[in-house]
Amino acid sequence: NHQVRLAARPNGLPGPDVWDHTSEPVAEPAEGHIVVQVTHVSLDPAMRGWMNDGKSYVPPVGIGEVMRALAAGRVVASKNSGFAVGDVVTGTFGVQEYAESDGAGVQTVHPTDEVDVPTYLALLGMTGMTAYFGLFDVGALKDGETVVVSGAAGAVGSVVGQLAKIKGCRVVGIAGGPEKCAWIVDELGFDAAIDYRAENVKKALRAAAPDGIDVYFDNVGGEILDAALTQLRFGARVPICGAISTYNATEVPPGPANYMSLLVNRARMEGFLVFDFVDRFGAAAKEMAGWLAEGKLRSREDVVSGQVSDFGEVLLRLFRGENTGKLVLQIA
Ligand code: NDP
Repeated sequence: NHQVRLAARPNGLPGPDVWDHTSEPVAEPAEGHIVVQVTHVSLDPAMRGWMNDGKSYVPPVGIGEVMRALAAGRVVASKNSGFAVGDVVTGTFGVQEYAESDGAGVQTVHPTDEVDVPTYLALLGMTGMTAYFGLFDVGALKDGETVVVSGAAGAVGSVVGQLAKIKGCRVVGIAGGPEKCAWIVDELGFDAAIDYRAENVKKALRAAAPDGIDVYFDNVGGEILDAALTQLRFGARVPICGAISTYNATEVPPGPANYMSLLVNRARMEGFLVFDFVDRFGAAAKEMAGWLAEGKLRSREDVVSGQVSDFGEVLLRLFRGENTGKLVLQIA
């Protein structure tokens, strides 16, 4: 069982020196446990936070521990009546080829030709839930509003924009590079895209959302958040989903300078964690699966084939913007 363990806490971008590659035999599951052969590892920006010491919404990954990761796989041994050998499951299995689990938080899924395993890590997994609850609950989206989303060609952002389109909104996406901008407009039906690497975001927002922003769904923080805050409409909502632009910062990044716009516009900015909505995941996944089947939603997965040992290198793609849609490592 090949495993990737955290060897040291990174400073800035996590290089190869922070990972340890180990191997151990696959044991028989304990009573009540299952053994899962991992087939797909979810790559999430949050992983960078889990590598830091300090208090957060989950404890940090300990030095020497297998790196925490959401993943999908096949049950290969079961001493738990809830799971049979051959079941396809998702759970927090870690970056390793085989994981033993007591079944807590493990979900059985039913992939088909249309809805394959990686989609259960993307649209129908934590990613899709984040978009759904972040937009509909935290963002309190109303039909026909103007929505701006950053990280728009990423896993969460690409779903946020599509969901807003389903609700008849005007949707502007902010993403890095012309390919991503073309994809969200031409393929996903966003109304406009802003390439933050090439354009002045504040100016571009004024042109793309001339009447202002009702919901700004923030995945990136930093300067892009700051630019969006200047364009809020009266009563706007700003779900704070993430701030990837700051995750690898080695110095305290300068804060957004336009938070006063929240006051002036009686607008609300609110952080959230997808786990707050765990009781409603089932209902949301059902609704999204319906939209997926009707062709109203698309799930794009960026599936990289490789070995468990490639994890560290594949993770960096998130921070370099080399993924479009949900980044998944498929274990060959
Ligand atoms: P993505 O698929 O969006 O991948 C990350 C993307 O972020 C990259 O492709 C890149 O796209 C963009 N990016 C990287 N660095 C920067 C930067 N310095 N400035 C601007 N953009 C950058 O990842 P996810 O969809 O999984 O996650 C998106 C956000 O949602 C993250 O902030 C994550 O932490 C958060 N999240 C929060 C959850 C919650 O419960 N609150 C749950 C899940 C995710 P580009 O080329 O456009 O720069």
